[in-house]
Amino acid sequence: MTAAPVSVVHNLANVRERIERAASRVGRNAGDLTLVAVSKAQPAEKIAELYEAGIRHFGENKVQERESKTPRLGGLDITWHMIGHLQKNKAARSVVLFHTVDSVDSMVLAKKLNHHSSENRLRVLIEVKLDPEPAKSGVASEELARVAEGILRLPHLNVCGLMGVPPYFDDPEEVRPYFRRLRELRDELASRFGSTTLPVLSMGMSHDFEAAIEEGATEVRIGTALFGERQKA
Ligand SMILES: *Cc1c(COP(=O)(O)O)cnc(C)c1O
Repeated sequence: MTAAPVSVVHNLANVRERIERAASRVGRNAGDLTLVAVSKAQPAEKIAELYEAGIRHFGENKVQERESKTPRLGGLDITWHMIGHLQKNKAARSVVLFHTVDSVDSMVLAKKLNHHSSENRLRVLIEVKLDPEPAKSGVASEELARVAEGILRLPHLNVCGLMGVPPYFDDPEEVRPYFRRLRELRDELASRFGSTTLPVLSMGMSHDFEAAIEEGATEVRIGTALFGERQKA
């Protein structure tokens, strides 16, 4: 006998409850948080189910995969987040397919996006490198102030905040200092460039989003806790 598949709607209720509890522990309002459902390697049908249940923000990490979901989901009022490393030659396509690029990790990429955005002022977040692993992307924290200053000057980008992916630890408490660090980096930029710049902090995934919320996340990016395991490529 195989167990009945757990529905994404059931998972959503569970995640929402955990978000609410984490927010209330630190006196925050869960209504101020954006839940980005990370739908990479998940079928369009499940995305449609979550949409039916009220989710409007979805995150993908590949331009082509996002594009492949248009036939089924194109008519829906979804805010699509690009959350993966974006190759510069895909910048033109991505400004058409995504409403926000949360993973801007270089000045060169920012300039390309700016070039292709023209009138609509693409929303972006600057991805900060939190994981020391060389293969991981993001702007190094030592370079952040300089890069942020340059990106903030680009007229066709609406820079809203920072995003980060910490290294993986089984114990979310070990991830907490990385979240705190990202928040501090944001606060430093805010005191430098104006207190209302960069209100968004995108941090926290399925296994550590509660700690991220306690440390000030305004957006959490949750995949497997909502959808279950991803499909193999
Ligand atoms: C895949 C991914 C997530 C979601 O990961 P889960 O552990 O499935 O919640 C969040 N952020 C980024 C950048 C990702 O690539």
